[in-house]
Order: sequence, then C-alpha cells, then structure tokens
Amino acid sequence: MERKVFQLGDIVQMKKQHPCGSNEMEVIRMGMDIRIKCVGCQHSVLIPRMKFEKNMKKVLRSTIPTAETDTLN
Ligand SMILES: [Zn+2]
Repeated sequence: MERKVFQLGDIVQMKKQHPCGSNEMEVIRMGMDIRIKCVGCQHSVLIPRMKFEKNMKKVLRSTIPTAETDTLN
C-alpha cells in the first residue's frame, strides 16, 4: 500500500470533491488534526489526521521540491 507523505503547504487532491466543485485542498496546519483549505472557495476545515489520510487521494504539488519533481522541472 502506498504511503501518504504530505507536508505543510502541500496541495492535495481529495477523493471526494468539495461542494464548490474543487477537489484540491491546501494543507495549512499539521498536527493530530489537519487543517485544510479548499483551493476553490478558500473554506477551511479541521479533520482528524486518520480521516484526512483516508480521504486524501494524492499530493498534487509540494512546496519543498523532492528529487522526483526536480527531474520533471
Ligand atoms: Zn470549496
């Protein structure tokens, strides 16, 4: 099973899209609970980390470039 790695400032794609139509969320707080902000409507929600990892599909963009993204740029 794929491990979900994410960090503060990442733009992530959720399995379920937000009512506004966007399914891209920005991670704006890390901790026991994760606060994410909808890229589409700027609405932010606080959700338990476990629920977040379950509902998160993938990381779309990361603020800190990894070796993988470096080769793409
Ligand atoms: Zn939204």
